[in-house]
Amino acid sequence: VAKRLEKFKTTIFTQMSMLAIKHGAINLGQGFPNFDGPDFVKEAAIQAIKDGKNQYARGHGIPQFDAAIAERFKKDTGLVVDPEKEVTVTSGCTEAIAATMLGLINPGDEVILFAPFYDSYEATLSMAGAEIKCITLRPPDFAVPIDELKSTISKNTRAILINTPHNPTGKMFTQEELNVIASLCIENDVLVFADEVYDKLAFEMDHISIASLPGMYDRTVTMNSLGKTFSLTGWKIGWAIAPPHLTWGLRQAHSFLTFSTSTPMQWAATTALRAPDSYYVELKRDYMEKKKILVEGLKDVGFKVFPSSGTYFVVVDHTPFGLDNDIAFCEYLIKEVGVVAIPTSVFYLNPEDGKNLVRFTFCKDEGTLRSAVERMEEKL
Ligand code: GLN
Repeated sequence: VAKRLEKFKTTIFTQMSMLAIKHGAINLGQGFPNFDGPDFVKEAAIQAIKDGKNQYARGHGIPQFDAAIAERFKKDTGLVVDPEKEVTVTSGCTEAIAATMLGLINPGDEVILFAPFYDSYEATLSMAGAEIKCITLRPPDFAVPIDELKSTISKNTRAILINTPHNPTGKMFTQEELNVIASLCIENDVLVFADEVYDKLAFEMDHISIASLPGMYDRTVTMNSLGKTFSLTGWKIGWAIAPPHLTWGLRQAHSFLTFSTSTPMQWAATTALRAPDSYYVELKRDYMEKKKILVEGLKDVGFKVFPSSGTYFVVVDHTPFGLDNDIAFCEYLIKEVGVVAIPTSVFYLNPEDGKNLVRFTFCKDEGTLRSAVERMEEKL
């Protein structure tokens, strides 16, 4: 394996989902729903295939989908973007992240991440040759340590990555935090890469796109996808929205990573993004029910549960159960209890920082969530 990837192992999500199958454990680890996406979107995909929409799409996306993304972005943020010059369709947000890093970061450029962070950020930054600076968000509220941010960011910083709502903690960046980040970015001429794939799963407060703050659109790449919002994580449809000078860079990387994204799925995704508001209301309502079952269950079992405002994840402190660290706890949980969670130490540059924390997902049907809680109540 190439040196730039030597330190990375099989992703924790793959490892844990394999163990779930091997031990017949209930999988509250990898974040994928065990229920299907909406029929109207699936039917649109079938129709597109039957209609012969099966050859390469235009590199940056079919015009109809680019337009639907721009429309949705305007509804969500008030920002008007040119779908031809500022929207790029990618194979999932993971590719948008990779294309952004590879298209806009030079070897040696400093990029700031907030830990815990989604694993692909570090790996793609490593492929880009970036110098990673890390700021740790700590429980119970995972607030941004402003002084540390001020001392870390400088004229040498090329970019900062913000994931809100935040995987794995469920933290949502507050207006105040985003204001401070924005002013520091403007002062130091820093780009922002905003991963907002959980924006429609914002339960305790409104989601704010940092691109919508004054002076920020010109320095921000906003990334999103279909997977979480439409329970279609296997479709791998994502996108990046950025001003033309940043879009140019990320499109260059996208052109040579994947060239273009599945044509019929883009047609179906166009239909999805034009879903009535009621779809989003129902999605949120369903998830709030699920969240309640899991969070209350975990508290009853005896975990210390940290508040999660968005995403379909919740992070807990497992130390009441006396295992050495998060990995040991998750192994015990799989083998002895029959439930899978994700150890969080892999989401830190310094694994010690995550050793007390594990992540559970509630993107499962209510019966599955209840069974998982029952198993833990019986056997932990
Ligand atoms: N984003 C999902 C999670 O955090 C899964 C990602 C993956 O499997 N690579 O669980």
